[in-house]
Amino acid sequence: MIALTDSTPPTQLAAAVHAFVEEHLPAAWLAAARADDWVTVTRLREDPDGSSEWWERLGAAGLATPTWPVEYGGLGVSADTAQVVKEALATYDAGRGDVDFISIALAGPTILAHGTPEQKERHLKAIALGKERWCQLFSEPGAGSDLAGLSTRAERQPDGGWLVNGQKVWSSYAHLADFGILMARSDPSLPKHRGITYFLCDMRAPGVEPRPLRQMNGDAEFNEVFLTDVLLPDSARVGEVGAGWAIGIATLMNERSGLSGRPGVGPGRADALLRRAQETGAWESPVVQDDLLALVVRERANQMMTVRAFAESGDAAPTAEGSVRKLANSTLLEDLATYGPEVEPYGGTAWSGELPQVTYDFLDMKKLSIAGGTSEIQRNIIGERLLGLPKDPDPEKDLPFEDRTRS
Ligand SMILES: Cc1cc2nc3c(=O)[nH]c(=O)nc-3n(C[C@H](O)[C@H](O)[C@H](O)COP(=O)(O)OP(=O)(O)OC[C@H]3O[C@@H](n4cnc5c(N)ncnc54)[C@H](O)[C@@H]3O)c2cc1C
Repeated sequence: MIALTDSTPPTQLAAAVHAFVEEHLPAAWLAAARADDWVTVTRLREDPDGSSEWWERLGAAGLATPTWPVEYGGLGVSADTAQVVKEALATYDAGRGDVDFISIALAGPTILAHGTPEQKERHLKAIALGKERWCQLFSEPGAGSDLAGLSTRAERQPDGGWLVNGQKVWSSYAHLADFGILMARSDPSLPKHRGITYFLCDMRAPGVEPRPLRQMNGDAEFNEVFLTDVLLPDSARVGEVGAGWAIGIATLMNERSGLSGRPGVGPGRADALLRRAQETGAWESPVVQDDLLALVVRERANQMMTVRAFAESGDAAPTAEGSVRKLANSTLLEDLATYGPEVEPYGGTAWSGELPQVTYDFLDMKKLSIAGGTSEIQRNIIGERLLGLPKDPDPEKDLPFEDRTRS
């Protein structure tokens, strides 16, 4: 455990994290980061033989999950302090990556807020130490934006356990996960929001079958997950039977807040694009200059909005306001990825060897305005919950789920 508190001045905080990394990061990783050799760093990060010891050290020091309570593997510090830690680790690309986003930003905080003492004991330290990876089993072929329409069934068994049957989809990294946060319908005779229960699903339980889906950029990050006669003990339930919708919403708000960019003001993706335009000569065009400077201004405004959210709430606690930041950030990142090819020779459409980053980003860009709730859904939330506009009418709102019209 490293001794950092909210009263440690930020420069001292950052220096302590740098000292820790310099002492404990595997030598090859440290050397590659010092040489700006990010290709080697990426390879080392992805090799479990080389990186698992580092993840364990990082977690044991409380640096993987700084905001969590000390007894569960954190430092008990505010999100502001945690951000200083995160940025210091980023200098070496030594923080936990996208593949652990669900574990650290969604599953862990949900278990902390709603889990039983046994669930906290069993899972939180394991997540902090990088020994457990989680996925999110919410979306289904017929339930994405309208998540409350989910139809995966959890039926109570005579021994108190649950029999789960259904299909999930778009489950990021489910093929690598040890556990999944799962929402399932436990009572179809209730209106759709009231009959859902939240579970922690062991991904190695018999009947759980992730099938990877290949994306157009070549990655296979998502899966369909088939759940066939999966038996879960009642100890896998989070919260009361039928209280899963409220817990799921708390998870989703954490997700939106986590997808809203960093709360720090400084050079970002737009600046990198601007530098690239200067290298390729695209910057000579006044039109390109105008477009890129507009993107730089938008990125700074987004950064300031996130800083303000942290400052106002102390810890940027997830609320519907997170939808404003998620929407602004995902549309900006999408526009940046769309603009990338404009500054490249041949528009990033011709290359030899590896797919260039700009082309990868272009092919990957659409996901930003879909994951964590689409941009249209964020606009609905902003309209209804922040601006007080009337809700979309739902004449079947109070009907039992099993009697609703379904396509
Ligand atoms: C990169 C990525 C990672 C993801 N990871 C996960 C994961 O790990 N786990 C998981 O459970 N899910 C995950 N998802 C799924 C994601 O949450 C859903 O794709 C998303 O909620 C949209 O649902 P859908 O795909 O069913 O689209 P639909 O809900 O069918 O929407 C189709 C279109 O209709 C629009 N629309 C729908 N309803 C309304 C409305 N009321 N008002 C206005 N417009 C509307 C939508 O905006 C969209 O444009 C991931 C998705 C992506 C892209």
